Amino acid sequence: MENNNSIISENEIPVIIPKRLMVISGHPDDEIISCGGTMLKYQALGSEIFVVVATSGLGGYAKIEYKNEIANQRKQELELVRTTLKCNIIELGYSNLDVNREKISEITNLIRDIKPQVILIPHYSDFHRVHRNLSLIAKEAIYHCSTGKAYGGSGRNWTPLGVYYYESPSCKFQYVEGSVFIVVDIEKYWSKKKEIFNTIYLSQKEVLERVLEWANDTATFSTSAAIARVVFKFEEDESVIRGFLGLAEYFHTVVIKVKDQFYIPHASILFNLVSS
Ligand SMILES: [Zn+2]
Repeated sequence: MENNNSIISENEIPVIIPKRLMVISGHPDDEIISCGGTMLKYQALGSEIFVVVATSGLGGYAKIEYKNEIANQRKQELELVRTTLKCNIIELGYSNLDVNREKISEITNLIRDIKPQVILIPHYSDFHRVHRNLSLIAKEAIYHCSTGKAYGGSGRNWTPLGVYYYESPSCKFQYVEGSVFIVVDIEKYWSKKKEIFNTIYLSQKEVLERVLEWANDTATFSTSAAIARVVFKFEEDESVIRGFLGLAEYFHTVVIKVKDQFYIPHASILFNLVSS
């Protein structure tokens, strides 16, 4: 049978815009830190954005009165994200991210209801337990909503077209074995992303510097391990390269810049990008 969904193109690769894009975030702010530019970019292209926030992000605060204050501030921050990004925010309010049937059921049914074409989730090897466990829960939920009848799914199957792990400060992809890489160039949205993070996430001020440093990362990396050189052709402008300088968000890989050299780690090979 003919497949009417295919396009033959000669000069350009068509860009497919997901009608609905879902970002699953462990704490309020993970979505901006890891996917903010991507959300802004795809929203501008016409996607409807759904941010699912698992916890209220209060893990580190012991004193009750301080906790309430921070909780209120974070609520206001999320409200600002909602209005600034014009996205839908779904707060799950989990107090922990223990992997269990209740959470898997809730997220499975959320995906069935919203029907996102693309889902962005944390990486399963993230050092932060909340991120890591959320990744496992999300993976299992996506499996159930794509294939099974579990958790009331009869006749409600939904298979997303793409699921991607996003990079976070606690899961940098140069350390992830066998990286598959997709780089979303967010140059046009970088300043907006910074502005949102600067103005909205006041409770995260101390994190900001570290995160921005990470985003502009000039990672120290043993370049003597580079065993393959690939000729990298510069684009007409240098937006691609600038993307590598932290103006991009990385999905399951990273391009490392050391001085004026660029490297891509892939499995045990370090590719050195050489300007043509
Ligand atoms: Zn987080």
